Amino acid sequence: MRPVSLARPRPSLFARLRLPLALLAVLLLVVAYFLYPFLRTRGGRSVRLWEWLNHPEAHADWAVQAGQRCGSAPFLMPTSGYIGFLRGDSFRPGHTHQGIDIFGGQQPGETPVVAAYDGYLTRLPDWKSTVILRLPSDPLRPERQIWLYYTHMADTSGNSFIVDEFPPGTMDVFVQAGTLLGYQGNYSGDPLTPTGIHLHFSIVLDDGQGQFRNELKIENTLDPSPYLGLPLQAGDNADRIPVCEEGLITPPPTPAPQGAGE
Ligand SMILES: [Zn+2]
Repeated sequence: MRPVSLARPRPSLFARLRLPLALLAVLLLVVAYFLYPFLRTRGGRSVRLWEWLNHPEAHADWAVQAGQRCGSAPFLMPTSGYIGFLRGDSFRPGHTHQGIDIFGGQQPGETPVVAAYDGYLTRLPDWKSTVILRLPSDPLRPERQIWLYYTHMADTSGNSFIVDEFPPGTMDVFVQAGTLLGYQGNYSGDPLTPTGIHLHFSIVLDDGQGQFRNELKIENTLDPSPYLGLPLQAGDNADRIPVCEEGLITPPPTPAPQGAGE
């Protein structure tokens, strides 16, 4: 007589692997979530930026111009050049860019940077390359205050390209849209690893107490697309060069000649 086995029947291979497979799938999703923006940035956008930096003269049609307005957008372009990186791009896995990077294609200290909207300028005492503009009323959500953050306006050693009118310690000084603030630079804080020559521009939320929130966190910033009239959110713009259509451009006002007029 055969002994009766008391052991439970062996579960099938699939049943035994179900938990490890589920865990693996979750892991892959998490990795993809962190890696996808990085790969997207390192793909088309980085390649095209490299081409622009090497041959800006061959791609004049890729550039926006400081002070120009696109369509009925509320903001003026804060500087000139090719908008190489968008909000939501990623320079390393897990990182997301809070603003846009505009590369002038010129040398440090040459490409002008202007106020995108009427506001109140602050430059903290230790800011070498940065200013921030307070907009008491967001043009798209008038009940709230927002801030416009500008940085990299200094050379590798921290010599500032911000105009003399706004020295360190400037607090809440009114500037009109289009006012010259400074020039693009490549200051990163470490002279050995400068950034490319560009302006980093972002729109920062208020903390509700009248101060700007920490700009380094993307959740404290806004999508600049509707404010500038261009597709500037990485997830919504796979590979379109963000420039304004010819017919929609309002050029920057040309300064009136000295002594002319009544
Ligand atoms: Zn940036």
